[in-house]
Amino acid sequence: MNPLIVANWKMNPQTLTEAEGLFNSVKRGVKKIKNIEIVICPPYIYLSAVKPYSHKAVKTGGQNCFWEESGAFTGEISPLMLKDLGCEYVIVGHSERRKYFAETDEMINKKLKAAIKAKLSPILCIGETKAERERGKTEKVVKKQIELGLKGISSFKLQVSRFSIAYEPVWAIGTGNACDVEESQKMCLFIRKIISELYNSALSKKTRILYGGSVNGKNSAGYIKEANFQGLLVGSASLNAKEFIKIVRAAS
Ligand code: PEP
Repeated sequence: MNPLIVANWKMNPQTLTEAEGLFNSVKRGVKKIKNIEIVICPPYIYLSAVKPYSHKAVKTGGQNCFWEESGAFTGEISPLMLKDLGCEYVIVGHSERRKYFAETDEMINKKLKAAIKAKLSPILCIGETKAERERGKTEKVVKKQIELGLKGISSFKLQVSRFSIAYEPVWAIGTGNACDVEESQKMCLFIRKIISELYNSALSKKTRILYGGSVNGKNSAGYIKEANFQGLLVGSASLNAKEFIKIVRAAS
């Protein structure tokens, strides 16, 4: 399984021209890198602009989606729309969606089901807050997010959708305070164990577990090569083409 490196541009950059420039720079920089799957998740309105330049090495994904296919849901985007614009992936349950848009595990579960139905590969984000960590609740929180997020989804569906999980401790996102490699490795093993208990060890082995939270060109190799994550979810550093290319190279 090739590592999966995902760029979450969030609500950036501010213009279409910048978005096209960033996408093209990344595309040029990773041209010769063969053994990594790279996914760029720009704001929705840039998806059709980056689509014509898409090629196999750089795929696109949504940062979110709604759970219905169409209808009176002002401001929402359906998984089918993402698929139509060439997306192969979608991020679901990012901590910023949970925090600012009150997304619950139940809503995230519906989104995951809708994404799988639309033949997208979902990336489920999970992770504890600083307060939860300080209260010793990390494992409990992560376990609950996985159990509720995946409720009613079969092992077969997860496998065919090439589902992945991104462990993103909330306190590490956008803070420059990345999780220690050793600690992150423990969480990677813990998540694999949960998938194995909920489903089976075959699915657990096939599920890519990504790390996210203040990843940069310097610390990225540790998560892949020492902690054994199968990929990274990159926020801030993905807005700088040079830094992002460095991250991709370090993982290859
Ligand atoms: C993210 O938003 O998923 C993320 C990991 O952000 P950052 O890399 O900026 O911490």
